[in-house]
Amino acid sequence: MQFLQVACFDEWRAAARTLLCNEVHPSEVHWTQDDKSPGLFDGFSQVEHAQKEDADQDTRTHTMRFNVPSAFLDLARTVACHRNPSRWQLLYQTLWRVVHGERHVLELDTDDDVHQLQRMKKAVTRDVHKMKAFVRFRKIEAGNLPEIYLAWHRPDHLIMRLAAPFFTRRFKGMSWTIFTPHESAHWDQKQLTYGPGIPASQAPPPDEQEELWKTYYASIFNPARIKLDTMKREMPVRHWRTLPEADLIEDLVRDAPARVKVMIDNHEGFSETGVHYLPEQRDLSSLRKAVGQCQACDLCHDATQAVFGVGPANASVVLVGEQPGDREDVTGTPFVGPAGQLLNAALFQAGIDRTSVYLTNVVKHFKHEQRGKRRLHKKPDSREIYACRPWLEAEISALKPKMVICLGVTAAQALMGRDFRLTQQRGVVHKTQWSTRTLATWHPAAILRMQNVQRKREMESQLIEDLRQGMETTR
Ligand code: SF4
Repeated sequence: MQFLQVACFDEWRAAARTLLCNEVHPSEVHWTQDDKSPGLFDGFSQVEHAQKEDADQDTRTHTMRFNVPSAFLDLARTVACHRNPSRWQLLYQTLWRVVHGERHVLELDTDDDVHQLQRMKKAVTRDVHKMKAFVRFRKIEAGNLPEIYLAWHRPDHLIMRLAAPFFTRRFKGMSWTIFTPHESAHWDQKQLTYGPGIPASQAPPPDEQEELWKTYYASIFNPARIKLDTMKREMPVRHWRTLPEADLIEDLVRDAPARVKVMIDNHEGFSETGVHYLPEQRDLSSLRKAVGQCQACDLCHDATQAVFGVGPANASVVLVGEQPGDREDVTGTPFVGPAGQLLNAALFQAGIDRTSVYLTNVVKHFKHEQRGKRRLHKKPDSREIYACRPWLEAEISALKPKMVICLGVTAAQALMGRDFRLTQQRGVVHKTQWSTRTLATWHPAAILRMQNVQRKREMESQLIEDLRQGMETTR
């Protein structure tokens, strides 16, 4: 067993290259995190020690070349900034697979290693985004010295080097230092350098510019959109201490209901949704007729027609997909293309008569981009899903199903919240506003896209099993 301690991506890469050259299997390496700030100390002491043990190995390291896809290196560079100590091991075992015959493993979103790496990448990217949004500089003037701006921020991950270049572009004409507990970045209007971090107790004091921030924040605060839990998720409470505008939140939240009433009276601040196109009579046939007139979002302009749900009005099971595809757009009926055929086969194997269930989509118009003669599916964004929600709400209210089955992650997140994770919660029955029984399973299109034959079969049987389970709980 080899024990390696690394602090940053470059150290990990150097060590991983040496290990690969010597055909060291991932199970023979134990990786640990070196908590020093990268670049603050000399070289790769632990790694160099391991490398110097064998001069022959060194020679091989310099003569062998690995053809590693740039997508893996990009992913690894980001994941290296995650705090999870297991990232080094995970990166090495994935790299091992890439160079040992699984070159396309990164394309398998359902692969456990890839899934974990993608989650780490997402967490780091999100943290970088938050740092860009929540760093607030305070002006420091000392005698005749040039003014400098200081900021203190506490990221979740080790992201200083990913985020700092953004601030050099954004605040090019200012000299500034951003401190985090782990590391600091300094910009003197010419060069970006890094140094040690400092604890929160040494964060820079408030200055007179804070009032400007507060005025700005109060002016952009939209009381109609306030969701305290979402706000805390998007602007985590741990950052409030360094955000001058956080002082205002309590007052703004308290006054929100009165301000919303004024906005409603004045029709301010609401973007359009399908609700304005709903008919007075909300049975399925009136809804189907009315949806053709909906122009609540831009999707209606490029689609052939709105595709409303089909199935009996007394159906006890409703299947909800993402949006109509190319065939559905042309025919005006959901689930008639290749994904629909796979769904038909799955329903048949689950012992369900397709004509007994109701089939619909979260979004009623086909979103696509034109490539030559082909129209390629594009995922609807949250604005379009929000705009179309009244149609789905009206449809499900008219049906009152005993079970709602979401096909795919878009439908699952639209009905059960953006935190829903299909890979973790597939097949689990939840009580929701839509039905006392709601579950999510694979979208047949995701199964069609799956390249790995074994995984494809697995997903097919899971889809059949989930459909069967959904039907049985309604009997
Ligand atoms: S996608 Fe939905 S909200 Fe948008 S225009 Fe079509 S029916 Fe209306």
